[in-house]
Amino acid sequence: MPAPVHVLRVALPTPLPRLFDYLPPGGMAADAVAVGQRVQVPFGKRDVVGVVLGHGPAAEGVDLREALALPDPAPLLQGELLASLRWLAGYLHAPVGEVLATALPAALRRGEPLPETATFGWRRSEAGETAFPAMRAGKPRALAALLDAPRSEDWLDDAAPGWRSTMRSLRDRGLVERIEMELAPATGPRTPGDADALFRPNDEQQAAIDAIRDARGFVPLLLDGVTGSGKTEVYLQAIADCLARGKQALVLVPEIGLTPQALARFRARLGVPVHALHSGLTDHERAATWLAAARGQARVVVGTRSAVFVPLPEAGLLVVDEEHDGSYKQFDGIRYHARDFAIVRARALGVPIVLGSATPALESLHNAASGRYAHLRLRHRAGNAKPPRVRIVDVRKRPLQAGLGDEALRAIRAAIDAGGQVLVFRNRRGYAPVLLCHDCGWSAHCPRCSTPDKPTPMTVHAHGRRLQCHHCGHRRPAPQACPDCASLGLQPQGNGTERIEAELQARFGDVPVLRIDRGSTGQRDALQAHLDRLGDAPGILVGTQMLAKGHDLPRLTLVVVVGIDEGLFSADFRSGEKLAQLLVQVAGRAGRAERPGEVLLQTHHPEHPLLQTLVHGGYHAFAEGELALREAAGFPPFAHLALLRAEAKHADPPMQFLQRAAAGLAEADPDIVLHGPLPAPMPRRAGYQRLQLVVSAAARRQLHAALDALVPGLHASPEARKVRWSLDVDPVDLY
Ligand code: ADP
Ligand code: ZN
Ligand code: ZN
Repeated sequence: MPAPVHVLRVALPTPLPRLFDYLPPGGMAADAVAVGQRVQVPFGKRDVVGVVLGHGPAAEGVDLREALALPDPAPLLQGELLASLRWLAGYLHAPVGEVLATALPAALRRGEPLPETATFGWRRSEAGETAFPAMRAGKPRALAALLDAPRSEDWLDDAAPGWRSTMRSLRDRGLVERIEMELAPATGPRTPGDADALFRPNDEQQAAIDAIRDARGFVPLLLDGVTGSGKTEVYLQAIADCLARGKQALVLVPEIGLTPQALARFRARLGVPVHALHSGLTDHERAATWLAAARGQARVVVGTRSAVFVPLPEAGLLVVDEEHDGSYKQFDGIRYHARDFAIVRARALGVPIVLGSATPALESLHNAASGRYAHLRLRHRAGNAKPPRVRIVDVRKRPLQAGLGDEALRAIRAAIDAGGQVLVFRNRRGYAPVLLCHDCGWSAHCPRCSTPDKPTPMTVHAHGRRLQCHHCGHRRPAPQACPDCASLGLQPQGNGTERIEAELQARFGDVPVLRIDRGSTGQRDALQAHLDRLGDAPGILVGTQMLAKGHDLPRLTLVVVVGIDEGLFSADFRSGEKLAQLLVQVAGRAGRAERPGEVLLQTHHPEHPLLQTLVHGGYHAFAEGELALREAAGFPPFAHLALLRAEAKHADPPMQFLQRAAAGLAEADPDIVLHGPLPAPMPRRAGYQRLQLVVSAAARRQLHAALDALVPGLHASPEARKVRWSLDVDPVDLY
């Protein structure tokens, strides 16, 4: 018998949940290729980039193809990160190749060569030091004079434009030399921040800082501090401690939280380069930062969701700011939760992890209550800031102008007259949520997202000229006349941010009225530019949850919240939690500096328990009640869920697919709890019929054992070929 051929087992970014065997490239020995190395291979008619995950004998009777190339001399993924990612693939029941591809920066996933991460600079050589005092005046001497310390090329670009040719002649004379600087690129200059004069931490902050400092090994700490309590100060001190011990720190922030303001604060305070990692960077920049972390050059990485995948060979601390934030969950592809994966990594790395929030997720509060997390509380605002005064304003039977009652309008006037700024919060962009025919009752629905039983209204935009579906993006001009009865009495119903903006502009012509939502302010820098335009002057901001966090608005004295009532009656098990978090976060924007803040909650349901509990008991009272309800109803964190979704143009194939899945699960574990298959709460989107199956188990292990038994066969099933399907482990909502 011939000796077995040794092959590489390669993870490829395909939905097939298995590894693929290849011969090593160019007649190499298989074991000369390390686990974690990128490898370029032929796959079907394409070349793709995968990651080597093992070696072994070839299976018999399989036609082996040869790998094309190894882009790197050494493994790109290794150690803790590789192990954690393999764990993640198992946990999500997702193909490991897709998980690895999700974790790698796009440029590296495509097989591009490793970017340069070092920064080069120049200094005088020994001969240069000796010769310098005697040099004649002129360009070369002026440049040599700048090198009284080693200077990076970036620095030279700023200080001495056109320096390169002069430098070359100095080098040819042996007077200067090019050196690798210690700091990696993509680091902004250290911006001195006067606003960030060092505070003396207050007692609560100090206790939190001490607890983090004393944490040894893996310790999860919930930093549960009211808005404005100085959580960021605690992070900064803890990170400084971590740096002083010679370790790396990773800070995750929500999508909207990574503002230039926030980064400048980190840079100013830490005195080392802070590497930002977010969607606003080029692929090349992202890859360079990722690699700088892998090489230990990046000491502090601050990034959004996908930054949870940076390698941290010298990890000392992980921080997840606003840990309750919805943007940590990825909603398509590999549906990971960055906070949860950060905890998994902290455990594997053996380092503390700080989860910070003014409105912690119910899961996190539950973990703190049960002693799994240390619970650090900051109950007071830092400095002299007072908590905002929150009032429920009953608008039943009151006249409303674009959704605003008299009391709110009077309060806005008063706040402006006192020189303050006002935030009007409405979580609905566009002009109006519905276009209605006043004569016959027709209303505009999205043709791609509606079913006969469940119409999806189109939102009115552009002052009534355009209709847009917020679920699938479908747009069309608003009709001039009713398509059913030809009446000209079409009326926009309800209020979005656009309409409120128009109303406020008409009423408060003496101050700027700025609208902040995804329509007006696409990019993160645009938001900053808007706020800069307002400056310190009195004015009004109208906005969606983009405004709920991230920016310090010291002049803000009044927050008016309108149109929350629909959120009070949503069916999803997490909607109460999300609404409570949003309200507390928005309210927390008011009065963060010396000026006291006031918050008005306008509602038609002033007696609603959620509002009453929040206003009179606070977030923690709400959370306690809500956790009791979850326990009674068997929802997380008292049960573990997975959501299997399937969609197709017609409803039959998804139903058959989900029925097969349900049967498979019931067979694997008769005690597993199944809800469905049923139409999804939004039963049609963009022309696809959507169905779902909710899988629930009291114990995590039980859920995963059943999914383990089911999922591999599901990929191969004939029903799967007729649908688009996905599995969401720990779904954040059931939509
Ligand atoms: P959080 O992140 O908890 O909302 P921040 O860290 O942004 O709060 O702090 C709120 C404000 O209080 C900031 O302007 C910050 O500079 C200030 N601050 C923080 N700690 C102190 C302190 N110990 N004394 C005075 N001011 C402080
Ligand atoms: Zn009509
Ligand atoms: Zn639609």
